[in-house]
Amino acid sequence: MMPGWRDLLFGRRDAEPAAAPKPADAPPRKPARDESVGRMEFMLSLRRRGISDQAVLRAMDAVPREAFVLPQLSDEAYADQAMPIACGQTISQPYVVAYMTEQLDVKREHRVLEVGTGSGYQAAILAQLAGEVITVERYRTLADAARVRLATLGYDNVTVIAGDGLAGVPAHAPYDRIIVTAAAETVPDALVAELAEGGIMVLPLGEHGGTQRLVRLVRTKDGLARTDLIGVRFVPALPGQAREL
Ligand code: SAH
Repeated sequence: MMPGWRDLLFGRRDAEPAAAPKPADAPPRKPARDESVGRMEFMLSLRRRGISDQAVLRAMDAVPREAFVLPQLSDEAYADQAMPIACGQTISQPYVVAYMTEQLDVKREHRVLEVGTGSGYQAAILAQLAGEVITVERYRTLADAARVRLATLGYDNVTVIAGDGLAGVPAHAPYDRIIVTAAAETVPDALVAELAEGGIMVLPLGEHGGTQRLVRLVRTKDGLARTDLIGVRFVPALPGQAREL
């Protein structure tokens, strides 16, 4: 058994009750040193790949990714790879999370909308940087799990909503920043309408199933200024709330 993610919360919350005693034949608990080495390599690889914004790096260091992956994959939580989560969806690769966050240029005074909560990992990173995060997920199961997870970790500035993010979330609009973490085939009009003037939206744009281009849009007085960024591969953004849970 790997140690639980609670061991790594570095005092975000009060100490959790001690884990149940292990049966005598259980494999030995890995020393904590391995975990900190894993996390150090994780941070080094983000820097090596060009993430340089100190606030983003601090946020990546602060969020315990093992709390967001499936328990049986917690050993690999700090490998730079996307991983499966429930409902056939994925938690994004840490490098892509850091890169998109850096491109979003999030400040404490911002209200940020995320479309595609998934595990809630990207939302947690945003919550380290923004004043307020609204995140929307079309699978109720994922939304409910992420809400509990984020609250347990002490994130009280995140609101998780079950619904169709492509239709926008007018209740909290306008947003200073919008991030879409599922592939859109076109720029969603409803999201452009909810982006504040001077606001930034980052989203993967392109065909479902293939690779997409990460695009950064800045809303100006005259319309949208577009910058094309790196190639990425995301699960599709689909319209409507998921019919299955
Ligand atoms: N940001 C997530 C990873 C997202 S995977 C994380 O950090 O773990 C993409 C997610 O977008 C999936 O969970 C998928 O169900 C969701 N999604 C796709 N289309 C959506 C839509 N129209 N509205 C809300 N969520 C959507």
